[in-house]
Amino acid sequence: MIYFKDGEYLQEEQMNLSMNDRGYVFGDGVYEVIKVYDGVLYTAEEHMERLLESAAKIRLTLPYTLEQLVGIAERLLQENELSVGHIYLQVTRGVAPRVHQFPDHSVSPVLTGYTVENPRPLEQLDKGAAMKSVEDMRWLRCDIKSLNLLGNVLAKQEAVEQGCQEALFVRDGIVREGSASNVFGIKDGILHTHPANNFILNGITRRVVLQLASDLSIPVQEKEFTLAEALAMDEFFFTSTNAEITPVVTIDRQPIGEGIPGPLTRQLQKLFDEQIPALVAAGHAS
Ligand code: PLP
Repeated sequence: MIYFKDGEYLQEEQMNLSMNDRGYVFGDGVYEVIKVYDGVLYTAEEHMERLLESAAKIRLTLPYTLEQLVGIAERLLQENELSVGHIYLQVTRGVAPRVHQFPDHSVSPVLTGYTVENPRPLEQLDKGAAMKSVEDMRWLRCDIKSLNLLGNVLAKQEAVEQGCQEALFVRDGIVREGSASNVFGIKDGILHTHPANNFILNGITRRVVLQLASDLSIPVQEKEFTLAEALAMDEFFFTSTNAEITPVVTIDRQPIGEGIPGPLTRQLQKLFDEQIPALVAAGHAS
C-alpha cells in the first residue's frame, strides 16, 4: 500500500511516525474519512472543508489548500487502485517535546493519508440495525472531528456487547448521535434530527440526507428530542460515510414502528443510491 506523509507518497516500509508526535501522545489532531465508490471520491470537497475547519478549531493551520487535499486523496486512491472503501487523512500537531510551550513555531503539523478497502455494508442497509442507548460521556466539543474517540469507542463496545450494531448517545435525556454516526427519526411524516451544534459532529452524510429530504419535500425539524420520543418514532435511521443511510429497527430491544425499515427511510436510501452511478459516471462524486 502507498501512504502519504508530508508531501511524499511512500511504501509501507518507508512510513514512520515519531513516538513524540502529539497525535500519538495526546490525541492532539483531527482527521477525515472519505468514501470511494467505483474508484471515485464521494463529497470530497465537503470532507476537506470540514478537515480544515476541525484543524482551525484546535488552532492548527494546515499548509494545504482544499484543492491540494482533494488531490492527495485522488492520488492515493489511484496509487492503491482502490475501488470501494475509504481514504483516511489524519493531521496531528506534529513532533514536539513532551513539555512544550504554545505557540511553538518549530513544530509543524503532520499530514498522513492511506486507503482502506471496505465493501458497502449491504446486508445491514437492507435488514437494518439495532441500537443501544449509552450515556454520552464525551467532551463538549463533539463538532470537532478529533482523534479523541475513547468515549465513542467505549460506547460502541457497550452496544456490541449487547448484540447491537451501533450506540445511541444520550446526554441530559436528549438523543445526540451515534458512536460514529448521526441519527434521524421520522414521526408523522416529519424528519427529526439534532441541530448542528457542539453536541454532535455535523456529518457530511447528514447534510446529504437533509438535501435529499428537501428534494423529496419531506419537512425537517432540526430540534432536540428525548429517548422516549425516539422510541415513539415511526422510523429511525443513522447516517455516516461508512453506514450511508442505515435503518434502525430496534433501540434498547424495543421495535421502532413495525420493527422493520420504514417507507421514508427506504425512499431516502433509494435516492442516495441513485446519485452514485451518475456521479461516478461524471468521474467526480462531489
Ligand atoms: N458523528 C460521529 C461521532 C462520527 O464519528 C461520524 C463519522 O465518523 C458521524 C457523526 C458521521 O459523519 P459523516 O457522515 O461525515 O461520516
